[in-house]
Order: sequence, then C-alpha cells, then structure tokens
Amino acid sequence: MLKIALGTSNPHKLEEINDILKHICPDYIEFVLVDGDFDPEETGTTFEENSYIKAYEAAKIMNIPALADDTGLCVDALDGRPGLYSARYAPDQKSKIEKLLGELKDIPDEKRTAHFLCTMTLVNPDGQKLHVSKGQINGYIAQKPSGTHGFGYDPLFFIPELNKTMADLTLHEKNTLSHRARALKSMVEWIKNSSEINRIMP
Ligand code: IMP
Repeated sequence: MLKIALGTSNPHKLEEINDILKHICPDYIEFVLVDGDFDPEETGTTFEENSYIKAYEAAKIMNIPALADDTGLCVDALDGRPGLYSARYAPDQKSKIEKLLGELKDIPDEKRTAHFLCTMTLVNPDGQKLHVSKGQINGYIAQKPSGTHGFGYDPLFFIPELNKTMADLTLHEKNTLSHRARALKSMVEWIKNSSEINRIMP
C-alpha cells in the first residue's frame, strides 16, 4: 500500500476521503493522519497555495509524501466570496450560515448560484509539488438550511438535479458527486499513472 500523509485536522474531511478511496481503489493507498496537533497558518493567496502549505507541512512532519485540500464556497452574487476565506468568514459554523443568509437576503433564488471548489496538492517531504487536482460542484444557496449530514456549508448548498442540499445526502451520496470526490478521483488517477510516485514509493 502507498502510505500518504493527510494534511488536515478536520475529521469530516478524513472520513470523506477514506470513504471515497474505499470505493475507487481499496487496498492501494493508505492515508495517515499527522502526529499531534496540525494547524499550519494558511497564508496563501490562492486555494492552491494554501493546499501546498498544508501538504508540505504534513510531508515534513511525517517524512513521507502528503496530500492536503483547500476548499471554498464561492457565491456569484458575492463576487466569489467567501471563497478563499470560507473558514474565516465568521467565528463558528452557525454564524457562518447566518451571515451568508443575511448577505443574500434580498437575492432571488435564480441569482443565488454558487459552487464548491476543492483544490488538492500532493507534495514530497523536500517540498517538491508532485501534482495538483481540482474538483467543483455547482449549485445554489438555499433560503434556509436543510439536512443533518456533511459539515460546513453543506446545509445551505442546494443541488437542483437532486432537489436536495448537500447535507440531505448521506456520506456515500455526497461522495459520488462532491467537489472533494472529483478532486480525489483525479489525484488517484494521476498517482496510479505516475512513474514519479512509483520511484519514490516502490
Ligand atoms: P478548509 O478547506 O479546511 O480551509 O475549509 C474552508 C471552509 O469551508 C471551512 O469553513 C469548512 O467548514 C468549509 N468546507 C470545506 N469543505 C466543505 C464541504 O465539503 N462542505 C461544506 N463546507 C466545507
């Protein structure tokens, strides 16, 4: 099994990533969490820079290649906000949801378009960027939260094709179509075909 460190302290991301992996390539990659507290400062100006910062930190600590994602909710009526600042938009998840609904209170349904964007970076312990992958899902910001699954902004993210929010979906359903699943599938494809990764981790 390829052992790859995962640069996150978010248990939801770990659960999703392990579940996605289980369905696409069981027994091929094992993601291991970084020992101890993991909270590198996200000083980047893009999703890619922040995912690199987290992955490189994890790779240095564990001395094996590491993967990290940086994800944002980009709302068109707010010119792409909260976007890169999705984690810092408000102090806790409840106030993030309230703030977003407040900012959109005069925006009609058809103009509440939004997308989740997930950027993943795989890095060597020496800092070499091995690969970057991205996944996106488009939807709308609902008028009120719905659903108990998922995390973060999921209760507000409405998927019209399913007539459900992301938080109405089970873990497995979310993982068949989410931004994170799309980014991870593309990363795993790259890993499988990469002579570079096979050289580092025979
Ligand atoms: P980060 O990628 O850990 O920096 O997360 C940025 C922010 O987006 C945090 O507030 C997360 O809760 C939120 N977030 C990240 N991924 C998801 C997701 O899959 N669904 C809903 N919210 C998310």
